[in-house]
Amino acid sequence: MSSIIETIKAKVDIADEVGMVVALAKSGKSLKGLCPFHNERSPSFYVFKDTQSWHCFGCNEGGDIFTFVQKQQNLDFHEALTYLAEKADISLEEMGGERTEEEREIGATKERLRKLNEDALLWFHQMLLRSREGSEARAYVQSRGITSDSVVAFSLGYAGEQWEGLTRYLQGQGYSEQELVTAGLARWRESEDLGGERRGAYDYFRNRLIFPIRDIRGRVIGFGGRALGENKPKYLNTPQTVLFDKGSILYGMDMAKDAIKQIGQVVIVEGYVDAVIAQQYGTKQTVACCGSAITEKHIQQLKKLTKQVTLALDPDAAGTAATEQGIKEALKGFDKTYVPVPLAGGNNAGFAGSRKGQQSQQGFQKGPNNQSNQKNVERYAKTQGIIRLEEQVDAEINVLQLPAGEDPDEVIRRDYSTWLYAVTHPIALIDYYFIVKTTDLNMQEPSGKTEAARRLLPVIGMISDRIKRDAYIRKLAGLVKVEERALYEELQRVLRGQKSNIITADFSGRSRQDAQGHPQEQVSKQGQSETKHRKGEIDDEDPFVSQPQKDRSVANKLSNEKNVSFGLDRREKSTLKWEDYLIGLLLQNSSLYQYVCGIITEGDFAGTDTRELYHILNSTYQRDSSPSNQSIEQSVPSALVPTVTRVLESARALSPQDVDALAKEAVQCAIRLKKTRLLQLNTELKFLLQEAAATGDKTAERQFLQQFVEIQRQLHTLTSATKLQG
Ligand SMILES: [Zn+2]
Repeated sequence: MSSIIETIKAKVDIADEVGMVVALAKSGKSLKGLCPFHNERSPSFYVFKDTQSWHCFGCNEGGDIFTFVQKQQNLDFHEALTYLAEKADISLEEMGGERTEEEREIGATKERLRKLNEDALLWFHQMLLRSREGSEARAYVQSRGITSDSVVAFSLGYAGEQWEGLTRYLQGQGYSEQELVTAGLARWRESEDLGGERRGAYDYFRNRLIFPIRDIRGRVIGFGGRALGENKPKYLNTPQTVLFDKGSILYGMDMAKDAIKQIGQVVIVEGYVDAVIAQQYGTKQTVACCGSAITEKHIQQLKKLTKQVTLALDPDAAGTAATEQGIKEALKGFDKTYVPVPLAGGNNAGFAGSRKGQQSQQGFQKGPNNQSNQKNVERYAKTQGIIRLEEQVDAEINVLQLPAGEDPDEVIRRDYSTWLYAVTHPIALIDYYFIVKTTDLNMQEPSGKTEAARRLLPVIGMISDRIKRDAYIRKLAGLVKVEERALYEELQRVLRGQKSNIITADFSGRSRQDAQGHPQEQVSKQGQSETKHRKGEIDDEDPFVSQPQKDRSVANKLSNEKNVSFGLDRREKSTLKWEDYLIGLLLQNSSLYQYVCGIITEGDFAGTDTRELYHILNSTYQRDSSPSNQSIEQSVPSALVPTVTRVLESARALSPQDVDALAKEAVQCAIRLKKTRLLQLNTELKFLLQEAAATGDKTAERQFLQQFVEIQRQLHTLTSATKLQG
């Protein structure tokens, strides 16, 4: 259904949409303004009207009207589609983009539950403010230092001790008992002697202070109740419902989201009261995880807003398995950035060091790698045309340290400046590990030092940034008083024992093609014994205009792109065709994802629909490293079903059959997209550079020049990596 997308793009001008939230000024052929996604004083956010695209040269975000709306309003693809369709005055239903019958039904149920929750909230809130039996709750609120402004802002409430107070009230409002149970506001009273027959419903929350839990858009989706008196459990949350998913909710998110974006940090505390007090005193970027460890779903939401996650951990729980699990989830949930590193001929260490990863992930065949064969290794590496992609977690996760034995709300109320200092000076995660992993060790004893090294080396091994890693090796060497070199050797051993996080892309094919595209058996020139498994050399032609192997004529049509200059137009037809082809390959054979995820990101796609499909693939893989085709298909919104059909056709027409060849195809396509994207940025930058020079804007000129150099570097890396050959 790309036609809906196209129609919307034709009807809603990106400059108008962006202009609603960013003051745009004309700058030559483009418009510029202050980026809404990062803090800046001079504008580096550009809107290009001819291509209906935008790009920020400060934070490097960019895309089309859909990405802008999604990012700016925190919407998913379908929500953005609905929003923009309404603006364009297009009926999604007529265009066939509306949800299926089932989706519509679920939508209606959710709507009814939200209404029900709103009504329940009103009742709880009134009970806290006005009821006679609410006096104990009011006293409790006061004792915790929560102001009446906060009570109103967070719509705090009270559930009384009676068994059916809320149930009777809501029934009076026209809701059925079944609806109350479905919403998690009531439970069935089941009689055992009547074989479990239901005898009416009773209130789920009783004698509790109620914290309404809202989603990021401020809609009430559930409640958290803190026991007043000796009630058990101390905290009770709405059970899992169609609206309420404990593992993805962050309390206070609706009120914190703007601050999180603006400050560029989120602080995660454990309790509702902690979050309320933290926001009340001014640290508005604070949210609470509702009685659950931090999960990947939490991180998925947060990473749209910030890359700095600060965990305010209960000091007693610091270093516990649950905390570590939360941290691991946090690390896992963030996007990984892959940095291509060409394997130069002399870089044997890197090559040998990453062999484990190559074998498991690429089915890489055994090559010569012992000392006496160094020369062969070099030649081998070169002939294979390999680049290595190193993973870097694109996030900063740190830990806020509080005085022992005090909860955040206590610290804040006792001494706000202590809290504020802790929030603004959190310690890096690795430094935190250095503390918690050694607190129980006697560092004066040799056994304590050995144990510290044993515990900390795997942690250091998680750091992919070499400079950072060196710094922590130095720190550890100082701590355990051992030479750095010895620790490096030990680290190598540790790393070899771990699953490698290095992906090696192989740009060579299994067999060489002749000019007509016919596979041609090649005889080994290196005299290697594994001729059977040997991969051939790269075609001499530009690898970026790679040719799908089966159908040369279609490929030739596509490769005409070679003659087309990369202009500003992101919707250039052949690029889109290649996107279709790549997404088609990935949907057909989802295991190919691992070969391309290091090369491209969502932002490299020019097509709105192909980008969304890549996004779906990407997030499916974040959840499950080997998802079934079915689980991917289930995530595709109905508006994109026609796109799926289209891309699968494209891949069927062109794709080779064997897995190695498919992987090569996918990698080449990915590189091609990346290069196209970089070249387009290049063009935009050249143009902006001229502009800045003409107006004498030295700051902008310097900034653009830096970016220009960076893009040249990336292009160079891509080119040299793909051209490595014997
Ligand atoms: Zn920006």
